[in-house]
Amino acid sequence: MIFLDNASTTRLSGRAAENLLHYSTTDFYNPSASYYAGFQNAKQIMETKALLAKHLNVKFNNNIIFTGSATEATNLAIFGSVRTSWKKAVFSAGEHPSVYNSALQLKARGIEVVFVDLDKTGAIDLEKLEAALDEDVNFISIMHVSNETGAVNNLEKIAEIKAKKCPKALFHVDGVQAFGKVSTNLETFKPDFYTISAHKFHGPKGLGALYVKNPAKLLPIIHGGGQEYNLRSGTENLPAIMALKGALEECDAWQNQKLLKTLCIYFKTELKSRLNPEIPMKILEGEGFAPHIISISFVGLKGQVLQNMCDQKGLMISTGSACSSKKMGNRVLENIGYSKDEVLGNVRISFSRYTSKEDALEGAKILAECANELWRNTR
Ligand code: PLP
Repeated sequence: MIFLDNASTTRLSGRAAENLLHYSTTDFYNPSASYYAGFQNAKQIMETKALLAKHLNVKFNNNIIFTGSATEATNLAIFGSVRTSWKKAVFSAGEHPSVYNSALQLKARGIEVVFVDLDKTGAIDLEKLEAALDEDVNFISIMHVSNETGAVNNLEKIAEIKAKKCPKALFHVDGVQAFGKVSTNLETFKPDFYTISAHKFHGPKGLGALYVKNPAKLLPIIHGGGQEYNLRSGTENLPAIMALKGALEECDAWQNQKLLKTLCIYFKTELKSRLNPEIPMKILEGEGFAPHIISISFVGLKGQVLQNMCDQKGLMISTGSACSSKKMGNRVLENIGYSKDEVLGNVRISFSRYTSKEDALEGAKILAECANELWRNTR
């Protein structure tokens, strides 16, 4: 089987798997316990946070909160910040459902919510963003890398615009698809919140983390025993946190970037050389895209059928985001201006450092064969 759906989830790294087992079976003690072994585990969690802070280039100062998923982390950033005095919140139209649907909840509470359109590349339209921002804005959320297209938002520029138009607004960045693949140096855009998800970079599923610049201003959305500085109660998921530590120790964004870029080139070259040239194909590519995601539309074919055909031949790919694959259409691609046929013919290919060159080449071959066959059979 060839797995080219790494934007949906990734395989555990070796050290992550070792830690998951070790901290479930040997050093499994509750980190909140007041005996030595519990205390040692609490110390390990702190060290993991400090390591994560290093990857984000922020000073570690009790400002990283572990959650049960990135979805929970984005919800904590939004609903832990919202106040009855809020007037307006601004989001990119490309946000993942965890942010997008939270924005709709804010709207239901009577807050003015603006979704700023994307440009042709899938990044937020900076002119429209500037026009949407004013002194009334309390909160902005813009993803770092699109899970649908791989488009990278220019966060430095966005931070500049924000500083000019609404310096007091809180700024959340969903970094789930960015972490470990592009630079996540938060110093360059100084967000108030940054969300990551462990399972997207060879850590375990069911663990998210939220960087919070100013934890004193955040309120919890889950109440209980007061773990995570009282901001996320519930016994810490020690095995997952330690697995995340293992994944972090093995994560080198710069090395990944080089490797993933090469895999993308192999894949695209092989696909183009094998695909029937009559099939109209639209690929989002060029500068400004993350190295691990390729969004391809085979115009006139059905992405869903292609996905099934590939699956039968041992290739796993996605038709857009896994979270929205049950729904017809694709709000993000539609916002970029894709035609109905471009949306219907869209598939997403995504790599990880565990993808081999052979997998990329064989995957491209299978996809091209399936597209050629479907094209022949439907003409
Ligand atoms: N944000 C983005 C951009 C994602 O791609 C995903 C998952 O696909 C999430 C948030 C949610 O992550 P989690 O699965 O940890 O809830």
